[in-house]
Parts: sequence; structure tokens; C-alpha cells
Amino acid sequence: MNRTDRAQPARLMVLGEVASSGLARGRAMLCDCSRRNTAVPRKQMSEAEAPLEVERFDAAVSAAAAKLLEVQESVRRTLGKDEAEIFEAQILLLRDVQLRDAVRALCLDDRMNVEAAVEEAIQQLMALFGRLEDPYFRERAADLHDVGKRLLDHLVEDGLPDVPVLHDGCVIITHELLASVVAQLEGHGVRGLIVEKGGLTAHATIIARSLGIPMLVHVPDATRKIGTGDLIIVDALAGRAFINPEAEILGKYDQLEADLQVHRGILKGLIGLPTVTRDGVEVKLCANIGQTADAVAAANVKADGVGLYRTEFVFLVQDHFPSEDEQYQFYRSTAEHLKPAETVVRVLDVGSDKPLSYFPLPREANPAMGCRGTRLLLAHPAVLHTQLRAILRLSASHPVAILLPMIDGIDELRAAKAAIESAKDELAAAGQSFNRRIPIGAMIETPSAAILIGQLADEVDFFSVGTNDLVQFLLAADRIPGEIASTYEPLHPAVVQLLATLATVARSKGKPISLCGEIASDPAFTNLLVGLGYRSFSVSPGRLLEIKYAIRSIDLRDAERLARRVLSLSSTRDVKVQVQDDWNRRRPVVSPELDPATSAASATPLSVTHNADL
Ligand code: PEP
Ligand code: MG
Repeated sequence: MNRTDRAQPARLMVLGEVASSGLARGRAMLCDCSRRNTAVPRKQMSEAEAPLEVERFDAAVSAAAAKLLEVQESVRRTLGKDEAEIFEAQILLLRDVQLRDAVRALCLDDRMNVEAAVEEAIQQLMALFGRLEDPYFRERAADLHDVGKRLLDHLVEDGLPDVPVLHDGCVIITHELLASVVAQLEGHGVRGLIVEKGGLTAHATIIARSLGIPMLVHVPDATRKIGTGDLIIVDALAGRAFINPEAEILGKYDQLEADLQVHRGILKGLIGLPTVTRDGVEVKLCANIGQTADAVAAANVKADGVGLYRTEFVFLVQDHFPSEDEQYQFYRSTAEHLKPAETVVRVLDVGSDKPLSYFPLPREANPAMGCRGTRLLLAHPAVLHTQLRAILRLSASHPVAILLPMIDGIDELRAAKAAIESAKDELAAAGQSFNRRIPIGAMIETPSAAILIGQLADEVDFFSVGTNDLVQFLLAADRIPGEIASTYEPLHPAVVQLLATLATVARSKGKPISLCGEIASDPAFTNLLVGLGYRSFSVSPGRLLEIKYAIRSIDLRDAERLARRVLSLSSTRDVKVQVQDDWNRRRPVVSPELDPATSAASATPLSVTHNADL
């Protein structure tokens, strides 16, 4: 093969991130599953016409809500109750008071026509969501986009149909994908999805996973490189797709498909089995959750409990601070799914780039290091007090624990514990029941807390290591990738050494320690983390069985050997090579090796992956 021949396959492959893992083969179909083709009309209305525009808005909300309920019902029938619940957030957004107020103001004060006002208000709210640090919340912007499109479909006469006309066995290639479009793909014979934008925790992605449709996101220029009718292999394991592949590649993927089928069956068979290494070491495997649908997913895979309940979501979908009763109801319905297993409820972790629209905070030059997490709550005792009362009340009937985010040292911990005691005293005085011994834990997310873990251990019941933040603060490297290549690296030797110390000190103090950062959800890290001494993880529900599989395939002596080897290294590159080699040896399903020209283009360095459940 000459140089030109070798270079050929690389041009016929596109790379992306795996959002819903699996393999698919089919003919490409370019669609616009996101935008309206028609521009939204813009008009200046008269004073008399303005109130009529608000009425049109209310009618559109009712019509769109009815349509969403229809979609939800059909999803409930075809996919089940958990997936249908995903639409709850959109229905809430549709009826959001903030959205209505914004549209009203634009119609009545600025005299905009309702279509333009809806477009403008949705843009404003999306910008707000888009600024949030947590990808989970940032990607709720996609729901807003979906809601906006639905409203416009009812307002503008020539709106797009919900689902494009599809041919059986196709692979959709699109710039962006809406959750409500994906939800209606069931029964349309769609085999794969390739999206130029998209997010790993977006609802469209969650539904694609539930439908078992392999999906790649962040595939630049896919709509330019792929043409309707091209034969496509979507390799949503390695994060690549082939365009009109040659026979040799097709043959390799036949074999991979067969292997994958077997693996899926194995993972399902793990539900209910103990999480234990081959040589009998037990590991606790809990779930990270943000909303009720996550709790349902966690219960379905029989998680050992909730290791991290990010309560921010409860606050974020509201336009006001939820009352104590509202919070109690939210937390209760979530904890109910996991009962009798424990739910670890983290108190509100906002501030920095995770603002609440109704909780204005002073501008700071460096908000990631500013007023956030527990220190923010201590500065606003009423917010903390209300939340603590709601959690404590729940503890009367459900096994719950309180987790304190972003603790920076002993003084802050003591102040938060004093707030918990005062909430307890108040409830006791009012004759309300709660668990006097509710466990209290600290997140280890700051270097100062990590250094002081020995002292903190004397004052808490458990620890949860939040590597997402800990890595960022330890390495002074932003966890949100910007324009410049990031130096954020969980396999930096300083991180690995610190993780080993944390596990050792917690154990010596007899305090349980769990790891809930994203690396816990990545099976490439599991062997190392067990070797470093971790016996408890909290992971995304969709990844739980994959992590259980990884744990059940390892041997503690092997894991400890890997940890020792890695701890002796001082270069990040060397650590990554060790962990990558280890993972390559144990990964259950492997995409085919390609010739050097192609594989050079597809090499995906080890990083925190977000592969969906297989
Ligand atoms: C973390 O920082 O690792 C963590 C789990 O918290 P969050 O991702 O919500 O900041
Ligand atoms: Mg954090």
C-alpha cells in the first residue's frame, strides 16, 4: 500500500465523543432535528394588540403542554415510566413563571410579537443555564431549546414536523438533536445518531441510551463530511464513525457486534449480584443522582444507595427558593426509590458558575474560588436552615445522611455542624421527629480539606472525595475545558498520591470514604482506585453495571500491584501509559485495530470517558 492509499481511510472516518455506546450500521440521513427552517417573524405591535400576544402565548403553552403530555404518554408506553419522567422537566420549564414573566414583559413593555418574544426569552434563559458549571445543568439548556421550539411550532404556522420522515435502518446525521425528537424515534428504525453538538448528560442523550441507539456527539462537520445515502458504521465504543468503509473494516465490525451482544447480556445478569472482586473483597457501589429519573435508574440497577444527591437540581428548576415543604417532598420522593438503602443528600452546592437566577451574588473576579458551597450557605443561614430542616424531617422515615460540599477546614465544618444542631433543636422543640444521629459527611474537594483529613475525621461520620473539583484545585487547572488545551488531568501523580493518602488516613481513623467524582464512573480507573484503597464508589446510574463488571473482574493483589507501580512514577505521561495498558488488557469489548494511518487519526487518549452503558 502506498502513502496515498494509507491516508485514504483516515479521511473516511470522523471522530466524536461516545454519548450512548454501542455499534450501528446503516445509511446516512442528514436531518435538521433541531431548528426551524423558517425565520421567526418579528413585528412591532400596537398597545391594543400587546395583551392579545400574551393570550396567544398562554394558548401556545397549553397546546404545547398537551402535546408534551402526549409524547410523554407514548414514551411511557414504549420505553417505560423512567424515560417518560424525563419530560417532567420540560413540562415544568414550559410552565415556568420566569419564562412567562420574560415573555409578558417583552410583549407588553417592548411591544414585541409573541413569536419574537418567545425566541428572545428562551435565548435569555438558555444563556443563564449555559453559564452553569455543572454539565448536568448546563445541558438543561437543551431542554429549554426544545421547549422553545415546541412553543414556536404552535405559534408559527409552518413549523417543522416533530420527527423527520425517516427511512428504515438509517443513521441520523444532524447538527443538534432535541429530546422530544429522539423520544419519538422508537419504531422508526433509526440505528445510530451522529450529532455535531450535543451533550453527554443532555436529555436527548439519556433517551438515546434508553432506546439503545448508539450516539456520537461533538462530531465536528459531520453534516458536511457525510452525505445522505452513505454507508455508515457508528463505533460508539471507540468514538468514531466510518463513511463507506471497505470490506475489511466491515468484517471486523461483524465480529465486534457479536462480542458486544454477549457482553450486554452479561451486564444485565449482574443486577442484584454482589459487587465483589474475584478474590472476595466487597465494594459498595452507589449512584450519583440529580433528579427523580436518576433515582429510578439507580433503583433499576439495584445500586447500594445514593452516594451523592446533588440537590442543586431541586433549586434550579424553580424560580424561587423552594419552601421547606417543597424540598421535603422532592427529597422524599427521591429517597423513596432507594429505600431501605441510604440516600446521601448533599446540601446546596451553588455559587461560582452555578448561580441561581433568584439568588443574586456579588460579582467576583474568580468565582470558582469565591463564595460557593458550604461557605456560601454559612453566609446565608436562612437558606441552609430551611434545607437542613427538610432533610432532618426526612430522616425520621428514611435512611438519609447529610453531605457538606467544598469544606475547606475545621472552622467551616464546625460552623456547618452547629447549623445542623440548631435545626435539630428547633425541630425537637416543635415536637417533630428526626434522626438525632443522622450521619454527617464532608466532601474532600479542596487541597486544604485533603491535607486536614486526619483532623476532619475526628468530627465527621464519613467522607466523599469529589475529584472533579479536587483535581482542579490541586492542579490549578479549570475543570471546564476552555479554548486552550487543558492541564486538568486526574492521572497526575500528585492526584494519585493524594488519593492514596486520603484512603489510608480515612481507614486508619475508621471513617468510611467514598469516591464520587467522574473518575469513579470510568472503568479504566477502577483497578487503580481499588488498588489505592477505595472500597466505596458513587457513580452515574448508567455506568453502574459497567463498574460492577470491572470490579468483579479484578483481583485485589493485581490492583495493589498496579497502584504500587503507579505510585512510584513521577511523570503524568508514565502514569497514563501504565493505566492505559492495564485497561487495554482488561477492557471487555475492544474496537478493531486499524491500519496505522487510520488509527493515528482515531487515537483517543485515556481520559475520563463518559461512555454510556453497554
Ligand atoms: C466533585 O467535585 O467531584 C463532585 C462530585 O461535585 P460536583 O461535580 O457536583 O462539583
Ligand atoms: Mg464538586
